[in-house]
Amino acid sequence: MVTREQILQIVDFKGNSHSVVSLYLSPSPEKLKYRDFVAEAKSLLKKIEEDPLLKGEYRKIIDFLETRFEPSARSVVIFSSPKSDFFQVYEIPIPLKGTCIAGKEPYIKPLIRLLEQYERYCLVLVDGKKARIFSIYMGKLEEHTYILDEVPGWHKQGGWSQARFQRHIEQHIYEHLKKVADITLTFFKKEQFDRLILGGPHEVVAHFKNIIHIYLVRRFVGNIAIDVNANIQEIEKRAISLIEKIEEKENEELMQRVLDNMGKMAVAGIKDVTTMLNQGRIQVLLVDPDFSTEGWICPKCHFISTTSAKCNVCESDVEKSEDIIENIIEQNFELAGEIHFLNNNETLKDLRGIAAILRW
Ligand SMILES: [Zn+2]
Repeated sequence: MVTREQILQIVDFKGNSHSVVSLYLSPSPEKLKYRDFVAEAKSLLKKIEEDPLLKGEYRKIIDFLETRFEPSARSVVIFSSPKSDFFQVYEIPIPLKGTCIAGKEPYIKPLIRLLEQYERYCLVLVDGKKARIFSIYMGKLEEHTYILDEVPGWHKQGGWSQARFQRHIEQHIYEHLKKVADITLTFFKKEQFDRLILGGPHEVVAHFKNIIHIYLVRRFVGNIAIDVNANIQEIEKRAISLIEKIEEKENEELMQRVLDNMGKMAVAGIKDVTTMLNQGRIQVLLVDPDFSTEGWICPKCHFISTTSAKCNVCESDVEKSEDIIENIIEQNFELAGEIHFLNNNETLKDLRGIAAILRW
């Protein structure tokens, strides 16, 4: 999987005078066999096989795939440069377009699009003695941690008064929840999740929410009422359905903000969005994932234009880009602007597939 920090590191590689090979592999849809990855790599890398500067990268990549690679994800992305310490591999759970690009800059647009398109969710199911922790990313749920704590049963009551025994149990449950909260925080930060979902018996979840760190409280987005022992398909179904509801509601609110501010702090359509991006004024970019359009880019200052006239800023000749949406997404990412992809949103389609909320 790939994180924002890793992409920023790859972005940092830009401007380095070395060439870099960017390879996206996404072979057979049924089984993950390393041979299929090797075959696709060999076919895509043909163009650099004889390149005196890059044939070393060809060998490095093929050697890696043949000897050290265990396919476990649907797609693999490799960046490799003669600069010896730059060899990076990312596994991606969904299909991507197979591509090989060799040039002065790493080709990262598909990764940025993925990163911006999917939020990373952490799901914690918790009851009085158990907890299960899951990740949900790109529509896929995975179980990571199972916690079971000894909480004394009623048979150990012995000569204790009921009130004393009740406090004893409560103390055990509190310690269990505290431990789950600590494990959740560590896991959440390590995996760089964006959002937290909780599930389990209502009363325990309410308790748990009071115990978790404020960092997690701020990222909490919703609950599912489900048994901690539920099977994984049921958990996935319930969690994904909640996520869809949350994201749909957020998208509606964003589009309402665009409509309320149109012509003032919001713009729509490729021409106005491009103008605002060039001025560094975009706070939130909203894109229909199916929308693409050709345009022109200045190779010197990266000015983006919807016409082929000379660059407005430095008067250089501009270069044609088959899809300037990818350039807009990339620049907005580098400027730390927010991006939302809105699937099948009729309002955004009516606004010609792209809109933005402005900083000023
Ligand atoms: Zn320019």
